[in-house]
Amino acid sequence: MKQSKMLIPTLKETPADADTLSHQWLMRAGFIRQNFSGVYSYLPLGKRVLDKIERIIREEMDAIGANELLMPAMQSADLWKESGRWDKMGAELMRLHDRHEREFVLGPTHEEVVTSMIRDEVKSYKKLPLTLYQIQTKFRDERRPRFGLLRGREFIMKDAYSFHDSDESLDTYYEEMYDAYSRIFTRLGLNFRAVIADSGAMGGKDTHEFMALSEIGEDTIAFSSVSDYAANIEMAKVPDYYQSPNEEPKPLEKVATPNQRTMEEVANYLDHDLDQGLKSLLFNVDEEFVLTVTRGDHEVNEIKLKHHLNADEVTLATEDQTQDVLGAYFGSIGPIGVKNDVKIIGDFAVRAVSNATCGANEDGYHFINVNPSRDFAEIEFADIRFIKEGDPSPDGQGVIQFAEGIEIGQVFKLGQFYADKLGASILNDQGKAQTVTMGCYGIGVTRTMAAIVEQFNDDRGITWPTQVAPYQVHLLVINSKNEEQRTLGDKLYQQLLEEGFEVLYDDRKERAGVKFADSDLIGIPNRITVGKKASDGIVEYKDRQTNDQSELHESDINAFLK
Ligand code: ATP
Ligand code: MG
Ligand code: MG
Ligand code: MG
Repeated sequence: MKQSKMLIPTLKETPADADTLSHQWLMRAGFIRQNFSGVYSYLPLGKRVLDKIERIIREEMDAIGANELLMPAMQSADLWKESGRWDKMGAELMRLHDRHEREFVLGPTHEEVVTSMIRDEVKSYKKLPLTLYQIQTKFRDERRPRFGLLRGREFIMKDAYSFHDSDESLDTYYEEMYDAYSRIFTRLGLNFRAVIADSGAMGGKDTHEFMALSEIGEDTIAFSSVSDYAANIEMAKVPDYYQSPNEEPKPLEKVATPNQRTMEEVANYLDHDLDQGLKSLLFNVDEEFVLTVTRGDHEVNEIKLKHHLNADEVTLATEDQTQDVLGAYFGSIGPIGVKNDVKIIGDFAVRAVSNATCGANEDGYHFINVNPSRDFAEIEFADIRFIKEGDPSPDGQGVIQFAEGIEIGQVFKLGQFYADKLGASILNDQGKAQTVTMGCYGIGVTRTMAAIVEQFNDDRGITWPTQVAPYQVHLLVINSKNEEQRTLGDKLYQQLLEEGFEVLYDDRKERAGVKFADSDLIGIPNRITVGKKASDGIVEYKDRQTNDQSELHESDINAFLK
């Protein structure tokens, strides 16, 4: 492609609101533009990178027998009411209605739609296992869209759903999907780790998150210095009773019942006694109290827990990542994600034991129709033994180390939660009706593109790995007005195209300095510059990742690039 014909609006200055390297470089190199908060256009170079990422994903999905389809982004609210997520998903769910006041959802994910399709179309165990996937735009009204493509409100996801007639079948396929994910992220060139994650109370069992390692990652992972053990920190420190949502919770040891304590006393108590083996703290809250978690010097999470004795409501207002954790649990609130530099004043777990439902609005999460003595066994401070760097790894091998990660994908054994709610059953080999068992598997395509840039950049711009670079070769002519240079440039362009290379040809009438700066920004792995030595057939080659330069004779270029 000739650069003179392309829309590549590079920027000399870093946009003021671009808060991470990937955001800055993707903007400056002309790959993306923000339309409004959390919503982006992918310009021609950005689109090419997305296509490459998607191609690798498709190859690996197809290789494990997943079928690609495309479901609607606009979904009927009825399905979400059937699954219960219309209420549970809260403010993150983008809702809209038509001219007849019928309600709809802009899909944040597709468990409801795909399960209703299986309910209608698959009647026999003979069709199972079956896996469907799509690559599609998703919508989530994130509380804080930020970091460019890393947390958008409209983003592209690959989502896959597998259907089974037994847990064993799901277990086997989960392994295959896990391996496919490992191949995808390896092929994409990413430095990543798969970590044990929290399956929450969605009736799920195993789940793993795939984390691209990066200082700006919003998750902390704890991993062993020697073995494969790696877990999201929420899981690494999780108290025993919480390990399996399917098991009866183990009672916590009760060490105090400070009914009359003020919050300050509670906080002091926790602050001082955590290290001395505090197990749990029971109390009746009859006033608002606030737990504060400071994260390094840049962020403060305030967790407000308010219990009106005479009102039918318990309000939990939380900030930032905390709300994700809250959102993930139905009536039970899990331990709060923390970072290694957190000063922990308190962590808590609230266990709902009966009819409580959880919803959310602008102000936070609400438990609706809650009768505290009926619905909550107790409000407890859980066993808070936070894992620290240097602790022995839970598998007994090596010590724990921490790293920050960006969640680029997740695999999840859902079990029968959605199939149950939506009535997806099949006839098994005994001719009996049986609820289907499901797994779901997501990859954030646009987030992955940003994660790659977080790992592949230098002080001049992006340094794309070849397999995802928008082009493989960037061909520059230093002086397009010079006949010899232009002739050699045109000739090499044709020749490289014929050899099957993807070439971006900078034929613009710009100064050499502008061309070099743009080329470094864009980050195509191989650069060939036609300059003064054109008359001798000599060009300059630059490897964008190492920035090594060398001279090449034009006749050696093809062999050199292969
Ligand atoms: P997060 O914890 O970052 O909010 P999630 O756990 O809510 O992500 P999933 O529901 O697991 O996300 O969705 C599958 C994948 O979609 C994620 O692993 C991530 O790569 C991507 N993703 C989720 N939310 C966003 C977003 N707001 N912007 C871009 N990608 C996203
Ligand atoms: Mg989320
Ligand atoms: Mg997550
Ligand atoms: Mg996830």
